Amino acid sequence: MLRIITSILVFLMISCSEKNQEVPIKPPIAIVVHGGAGTILKKNMSYEKEEKYKSKLEEAIRAGYQVLQNGGTSLDAVEQTIIILEDSPLFNAGKGAVFTHDEKNELDASIMEGSNLKAGAVAGVTHIKNPIRAARAVMEKSEHVLLAREGAEHFALLQKLDTVSPTYFFTEKRAKSLKRAKKEEKFGTVGCVALDQNGNIAAGTSTGGMTNKKWGRIGDSPIIGAGTYANNSTCGVSSTGWGEYFIRGVVAHDISAMMEYGGKSLKESANHVIHHKLTELGGTGGIIALDQKGNIVMEFNTDGMYRGFMTEDSLSISIYGPKI
Ligand code: ASP
Repeated sequence: MLRIITSILVFLMISCSEKNQEVPIKPPIAIVVHGGAGTILKKNMSYEKEEKYKSKLEEAIRAGYQVLQNGGTSLDAVEQTIIILEDSPLFNAGKGAVFTHDEKNELDASIMEGSNLKAGAVAGVTHIKNPIRAARAVMEKSEHVLLAREGAEHFALLQKLDTVSPTYFFTEKRAKSLKRAKKEEKFGTVGCVALDQNGNIAAGTSTGGMTNKKWGRIGDSPIIGAGTYANNSTCGVSSTGWGEYFIRGVVAHDISAMMEYGGKSLKESANHVIHHKLTELGGTGGIIALDQKGNIVMEFNTDGMYRGFMTEDSLSISIYGPKI
């Protein structure tokens, strides 16, 4: 009996020490960000303006990556990254939100966790400083997925989130772009998708919607499956562009569904949904996405999309499309 126990112990010790000698494979971490797609042309951009966008995107990406590097969750990384972009007047989200037809700022945001398909969103809020925080609170602190307008604001107050006077969202640039009406600067939403050390994917999107919107119009950004989607077994996606088309094409979920039911890769799926389905519908915009292996895609059918990503071995920030 003693001999049997001794041999078992020796066997266990050998196999443990062999395991210890294995080089541990570090799971990939990655983050990808967008700051909106649209008519972004180099000829309309000064060097200074370009640098401002790039450095804010880099700051946001690095902040999110730092969370992941410290062993934090993809959910925290997405939230932290989006807060930085929401606090900047450069992007159409939070501080820099575009104006509605009635010269107000109505903000939408959503967030989703790929490990359990939990999601939260707010739509048409006017006092919440960081709508992405409110979206996360809806996911974690309520039984609901999407809260809108006064009800959402009441909920945010109960959660003790920062609120501001609606004048906080006033920026000269957006007021002018409302006056110039529609044509330019229609987009500029922000979004982020991250993969953490535990293989969990999270995605989030935040926006002021489309300039000149009216009648309580809500776009795709707070709609799970259209503007945001995350599923560990497929991918995480954040969209930007003409929201109505993203809702009709259920763009974010469609990319995931091509992977889940069609066995396609992330690249093939994103490429098909943006360059065929969305484009054939007449929609314009783009997406950022990543999968559990850390593969990243950034697809758009507009002239440009503010975008960037960071992985263990690269950091990339770009604005224009391949045509430029
Ligand atoms: N997708 C947003 C919306 O339609 C706008 C944008 O991405 O800039 O509300």
